[in-house]
Amino acid sequence: MGRLAYVNGRYVPHAQAMVHVEDRGYQFADGVYEVVPVIDGVLIDEEPHLDRLGYSLGELRIAWPVSRNVLKLILRELVRRNGLRRGIVYFQVTRGVAPRDHKFPAKVKSALVVTTKRMNPPSEAMLRDGVAVSSQPDIRWTRRDIKSLSLLPNILAKQAATEAKAFEAWLVGPDGTVTEGSSTNAWIVKNGAVITYPKSHDILGGITRLSLLELVQKTGVTLVERGFTLKEALEADEAFLTSSSAFLLPVTSIDGQNIGNGKPGPISEKLRAIYLENVARQIGAAK
Ligand code: PMP
Repeated sequence: MGRLAYVNGRYVPHAQAMVHVEDRGYQFADGVYEVVPVIDGVLIDEEPHLDRLGYSLGELRIAWPVSRNVLKLILRELVRRNGLRRGIVYFQVTRGVAPRDHKFPAKVKSALVVTTKRMNPPSEAMLRDGVAVSSQPDIRWTRRDIKSLSLLPNILAKQAATEAKAFEAWLVGPDGTVTEGSSTNAWIVKNGAVITYPKSHDILGGITRLSLLELVQKTGVTLVERGFTLKEALEADEAFLTSSSAFLLPVTSIDGQNIGNGKPGPISEKLRAIYLENVARQIGAAK
């Protein structure tokens, strides 16, 4: 049997998974989403992802479509039915279906869609050589902490980066500060200190970022949560990015200019190893 999706209470063939044309997600991007990595069939960092979903829903005053526990059952069931070992589970919640009108509908039931996707781990070449980043202007709204479906500025930045033959776009504010990537958090290493933008309305609080911060604190590596400029990034010893699908990837060039010696740095490699140990522990605990 082919891949299934979960759409508002039913498991349906992925190719026939549809929502109504007046779903507010479709018309207004009035909804939020999460992406949870799956390794060996185990959902990694599921609880913090659900915490963040609850936060995003709360900020937009969208009701949970089902209880947190039922959602967990649905996620597991779809992963099981699709036989997913390595990849991601994607879920989105919209305010629901209602006649098109900007203000919140009086009575509406929030809508839930869940899909899974197989994904390979980052290639050997990416880990050996690191990835290239292209700087792009950050033209987003001022509530980037909400994991909203509205991703146009992120899409445009990623496309521009792709056309510049880069793996990711790093978004730069009017004051020259790098906030984060189009779908990843941004980090640099300078004189042994690991630096990343502080948790605030300006960035999405990445779950990989959160886990890594906790792990770094235990290693004794100096950690500084502050903005850094593009100029600082270009002059950094190392740079890397984090996300649920990439985990941690070394960044070895920005706008065609090498970072450090142009090879993945030792601190990035150490942190990647520490992060992967944490993932392995979660897999072990789930079995
Ligand atoms: N920033 C943005 C803008 C993102 O879209 C993502 C990916 N969801 C991240 C950072 C990384 O977050 P996470 O580690 O939770 O995948």
